[in-house]
Amino acid sequence: MTTSALNSQVQSLVAEYSVFWQFWPQFEQIHGERRLVGFEVELIGFHTSDLNHLDPACPACRHVRSVLLAIALAMPRETSFRRNYLTYNIDSHSNSIVCLPALGNRSAVWVSIYVFLNRANGQSFETDLLNEVKTFLNRCGIHQR
Ligand SMILES: [Zn+2]
Repeated sequence: MTTSALNSQVQSLVAEYSVFWQFWPQFEQIHGERRLVGFEVELIGFHTSDLNHLDPACPACRHVRSVLLAIALAMPRETSFRRNYLTYNIDSHSNSIVCLPALGNRSAVWVSIYVFLNRANGQSFETDLLNEVKTFLNRCGIHQR
Protein backbone atom coordinates (compact mmCIF):
# COMPACT_ATOMS: atom_id res chain seq x y z
CA MET A 1 0.00 0.00 0.00
CA THR A 2 1.34 3.41 -0.90
CA THR A 3 1.19 6.20 1.58
CA SER A 4 -0.91 9.14 0.59
CA ALA A 5 1.07 12.00 -0.89
CA LEU A 6 -1.95 14.17 -0.49
CA ASN A 7 -1.70 15.83 2.85
CA SER A 8 -4.48 16.84 5.17
CA GLN A 9 -4.29 20.36 3.76
CA VAL A 10 -5.53 19.06 0.41
CA GLN A 11 -8.31 17.19 2.19
CA SER A 12 -9.48 20.28 3.98
CA LEU A 13 -9.38 22.25 0.70
CA VAL A 14 -11.47 19.51 -0.90
CA ALA A 15 -14.09 20.12 1.77
CA GLU A 16 -13.81 23.89 1.50
CA TYR A 17 -14.25 23.83 -2.28
CA SER A 18 -17.02 21.18 -2.20
CA VAL A 19 -15.04 19.08 -4.67
CA PHE A 20 -16.90 16.21 -6.29
CA TRP A 21 -16.31 13.98 -9.28
CA GLN A 22 -18.23 12.72 -12.27
CA PHE A 23 -17.54 9.74 -14.45
CA TRP A 24 -18.08 9.48 -18.21
CA PRO A 25 -17.35 6.21 -19.95
CA GLN A 26 -15.92 6.57 -23.45
CA PHE A 27 -17.15 4.11 -26.03
CA GLU A 28 -16.00 3.26 -29.50
CA GLN A 29 -17.69 1.30 -32.24
CA ILE A 30 -15.38 -1.61 -33.06
CA HIS A 31 -16.56 -4.18 -35.66
CA GLY A 32 -20.15 -3.12 -35.09
CA GLU A 33 -19.74 -3.66 -31.38
CA ARG A 34 -19.82 -0.93 -28.77
CA ARG A 35 -16.78 -1.26 -26.59
CA LEU A 36 -15.50 0.66 -23.62
CA VAL A 37 -12.17 2.21 -24.60
CA GLY A 38 -11.61 4.48 -21.65
CA PHE A 39 -13.21 6.99 -19.39
CA GLU A 40 -13.20 10.57 -18.33
CA VAL A 41 -13.19 11.61 -14.71
CA GLU A 42 -14.16 15.19 -14.00
CA LEU A 43 -13.08 16.83 -10.78
CA ILE A 44 -15.24 19.84 -10.04
CA GLY A 45 -15.01 22.45 -7.31
CA PHE A 46 -16.04 25.97 -6.47
CA HIS A 47 -15.18 28.55 -3.82
CA THR A 48 -18.23 30.78 -3.69
CA SER A 49 -21.98 30.42 -3.57
CA ASP A 50 -22.35 33.74 -5.41
CA LEU A 51 -24.29 32.80 -8.55
CA ASN A 52 -23.06 35.89 -10.40
CA HIS A 53 -19.44 34.97 -9.93
CA LEU A 54 -18.04 34.55 -13.44
CA ASP A 55 -14.50 35.81 -13.53
CA PRO A 56 -12.05 33.58 -15.39
CA ALA A 57 -9.17 35.60 -13.94
CA CYS A 58 -10.29 35.14 -10.34
CA PRO A 59 -7.31 34.09 -8.17
CA ALA A 60 -9.52 31.99 -5.89
CA CYS A 61 -10.84 30.03 -8.88
CA ARG A 62 -7.26 29.54 -9.98
CA HIS A 63 -6.47 28.13 -6.58
CA VAL A 64 -9.40 25.71 -6.75
CA ARG A 65 -8.10 24.59 -10.14
CA SER A 66 -4.58 24.05 -8.79
CA VAL A 67 -5.95 21.83 -6.01
CA LEU A 68 -7.93 19.77 -8.55
CA LEU A 69 -4.84 19.51 -10.71
CA ALA A 70 -2.71 18.31 -7.80
CA ILE A 71 -5.26 15.55 -7.14
CA ALA A 72 -5.31 14.59 -10.85
CA LEU A 73 -1.53 14.40 -10.89
CA ALA A 74 -1.41 12.30 -7.72
CA MET A 75 -3.92 9.72 -8.95
CA PRO A 76 -1.63 7.66 -11.24
CA ARG A 77 1.04 7.66 -8.53
CA GLU A 78 -1.33 6.19 -5.97
CA THR A 79 -3.17 3.64 -8.06
CA SER A 80 -2.06 0.83 -10.34
CA PHE A 81 -2.96 2.98 -13.35
CA ARG A 82 0.55 2.78 -14.66
CA ARG A 83 0.15 -0.92 -15.31
CA ASN A 84 -3.28 -0.66 -16.84
CA TYR A 85 -3.84 2.44 -18.86
CA LEU A 86 -2.55 3.40 -22.28
CA THR A 87 -2.77 7.11 -21.88
CA TYR A 88 -3.55 9.40 -19.01
CA ASN A 89 -4.27 12.96 -20.07
CA ILE A 90 -5.23 15.88 -17.91
CA ASP A 91 -7.04 18.94 -19.21
CA SER A 92 -7.25 21.68 -16.61
CA HIS A 93 -9.53 23.90 -18.73
CA SER A 94 -7.48 26.88 -17.66
CA ASN A 95 -9.31 30.20 -18.01
CA SER A 96 -12.67 28.43 -18.26
CA ILE A 97 -15.54 28.42 -15.83
CA VAL A 98 -18.48 26.08 -16.08
CA CYS A 99 -22.03 26.75 -14.90
CA LEU A 100 -23.62 23.71 -13.36
CA PRO A 101 -27.38 23.41 -13.72
CA ALA A 102 -27.29 20.60 -11.14
CA LEU A 103 -25.94 23.09 -8.64
CA GLY A 104 -28.37 25.87 -9.47
CA ASN A 105 -26.10 27.27 -12.20
CA ARG A 106 -23.34 27.85 -9.73
CA SER A 107 -20.05 28.59 -11.44
CA ALA A 108 -17.26 26.14 -10.89
CA VAL A 109 -13.89 25.14 -12.23
CA TRP A 110 -13.10 21.64 -13.36
CA VAL A 111 -10.28 19.37 -14.40
CA SER A 112 -10.82 16.46 -16.78
CA ILE A 113 -8.82 13.26 -16.62
CA TYR A 114 -8.93 11.07 -19.71
CA VAL A 115 -7.87 7.48 -19.21
CA PHE A 116 -7.59 5.23 -22.24
CA LEU A 117 -7.40 1.57 -21.55
CA ASN A 118 -4.84 -0.98 -22.54
CA ARG A 119 -6.84 -3.76 -24.18
CA ALA A 120 -4.07 -6.28 -23.61
CA ASN A 121 -5.14 -6.52 -20.00
CA GLY A 122 -7.83 -8.75 -18.56
CA GLN A 123 -11.57 -8.50 -18.96
CA SER A 124 -12.52 -7.11 -15.62
CA PHE A 125 -9.83 -4.51 -15.19
CA GLU A 126 -12.08 -1.61 -16.21
CA THR A 127 -14.08 -2.26 -13.07
CA ASP A 128 -10.89 -2.70 -11.06
CA LEU A 129 -9.60 0.59 -12.40
CA LEU A 130 -12.84 2.35 -11.63
CA ASN A 131 -12.81 0.89 -8.13
CA GLU A 132 -9.32 2.23 -7.66
CA VAL A 133 -10.42 5.66 -8.84
CA LYS A 134 -13.28 5.55 -6.35
CA THR A 135 -11.06 4.40 -3.51
CA PHE A 136 -8.46 7.03 -4.24
CA LEU A 137 -10.97 9.86 -4.52
CA ASN A 138 -12.78 8.64 -1.41
CA ARG A 139 -9.52 8.80 0.48
CA CYS A 140 -9.18 12.41 -0.63
CA GLY A 141 -12.67 13.04 0.72
CA ILE A 142 -14.14 13.50 -2.77
CA HIS A 143 -17.51 11.98 -3.55
CA GLN A 144 -19.20 11.08 -6.80
CA ARG A 145 -22.14 13.13 -7.93
ZN1 LIG B 1 -13.54 32.69 -8.33
